[in-house]
Amino acid sequence: MQGRIIIISGPSGVGKGTILKEVMRRDPSLRFSVSATTRPIRPGEVEGVNYYFVDKPRFEQMIENGELLEHAFYAGNYYGTPEKPVEDALAQGINVVLEIDVQGALQVFKRRPDAISVFIAPPSLEELRRRLNGRGDTAPEVADLRLHIALQECAIAEQYQYIIINDSVAHAADELCAILSAEACRPQYRKIHLKEEV
Ligand code: 5GP
Repeated sequence: MQGRIIIISGPSGVGKGTILKEVMRRDPSLRFSVSATTRPIRPGEVEGVNYYFVDKPRFEQMIENGELLEHAFYAGNYYGTPEKPVEDALAQGINVVLEIDVQGALQVFKRRPDAISVFIAPPSLEELRRRLNGRGDTAPEVADLRLHIALQECAIAEQYQYIIINDSVAHAADELCAILSAEACRPQYRKIHLKEEV
């Protein structure tokens, strides 16, 4: 059986990465889709693990070649999901996590209506501001821009199938695991074995 795409979106600084780390620790069968981006690498990030860091001409070539499942221009940089690794994993029955912004998610909703979509929201705007400003790797003007984008992103949250409020990482991870378990129980992904033993 084909794997499924799991779209995770939410404002920058909301804690998507931390929640995903915990969920993937609990379910190591999940595969994280490594995106391509033109944004500069941050301290601690690793090429090919966090992102494929590419320049603008290379990114535009990927768009032109149709190599991307979706892409978006976010806070001055390109981000996109290389399609082939996703398709290869799905064909092997592996569920693939796409941590992407709302613009990219809207593209995937259209192309892959079977995708599971989850929006992670902050408990409040003040809390998001606090988390963004407390992140040592983000300049104040970048944090302001990201906060502004966050408001627009939250307006699109209702188009997702699920919304999780990240009030605590453990609770948010519990909810995401519960969503994934319930989704696996949908009839189209379950086989009932009724053959009689003889
Ligand atoms: P950051 O620069 O903080 O790593 O990511 C900024 C935003 O880009 C986040 O909302 C993140 O989810 C989103 N993002 C990361 N990879 C992709 C991608 O492949 N496609 C799209 N559309 N957004 C992405």
